[in-house]
Amino acid sequence: MARVHGKPVAAAHPLLTRGLTLESGKAWQLLAAREWRLSSADAEAVAAVLARLTAPLPTRRGAAPQARATDRDRLLQRILRTTVHHLDAGAVSPPAAALLAAVARALLPWHAAPNPPIAAAAPRYGTVPGTTDRAAPPTEEGEALLPDLAALFTALAATSMPGAVPLTPPVEPWQARYVGRFRRHTRPAPGVWAAETVGCPECGGKDGPWTVICDWRRATLGCPCGAVSHEHRLAFSEICLVLPET
Ligand SMILES: [Zn+2]
Repeated sequence: MARVHGKPVAAAHPLLTRGLTLESGKAWQLLAAREWRLSSADAEAVAAVLARLTAPLPTRRGAAPQARATDRDRLLQRILRTTVHHLDAGAVSPPAAALLAAVARALLPWHAAPNPPIAAAAPRYGTVPGTTDRAAPPTEEGEALLPDLAALFTALAATSMPGAVPLTPPVEPWQARYVGRFRRHTRPAPGVWAAETVGCPECGGKDGPWTVICDWRRATLGCPCGAVSHEHRLAFSEICLVLPET
């Protein structure tokens, strides 16, 4: 059973790895068929995430078990944050964005652990629905994902050799229905977050149900009134990380 400060807590929800299994499988197939060679933006993102995936734990002499546990969770949190950064920067290709989104979803329990977002308006993903308690992140389950992810990101990085012409495979658009609110976050100053709820440009509705259509180049939000909005200015993570896993 998971423990926080030595006390057993309710078992954390299982990691949302369905998307990751799917996207990793697709990526391996594309690599085997030599149908994906990274663009320079993809290569930059893959290298950054790979560096996080393979980062060693800090060596601490005589560290308390609690400090060691925090280090392990911090490593997972850094992978998540780097992944979301590159997903939302908008430079990567659709297949890379799909993979990064799947990695981020699987690592959502580390969104606020060990370090919660510092401002009230910061994004809140991965909280346990219907509770105010923060479940302990399933550290071992998260760590168990890393060897396969490191192997995949290493193989992807290897396609970006000098002189290699980038080859980006097509990605099928996806569609989802979402009952709830989308929040757009901005960071007006270091450590300061602002957030606003996205409303329909026609009727002002905020609660959906929204019809989300996304091809990983852009996402559109369809409102029940019939309006379709492209100008919501939501980052991919602000859309895909709030959707329930299907
Ligand atoms: Zn509307």
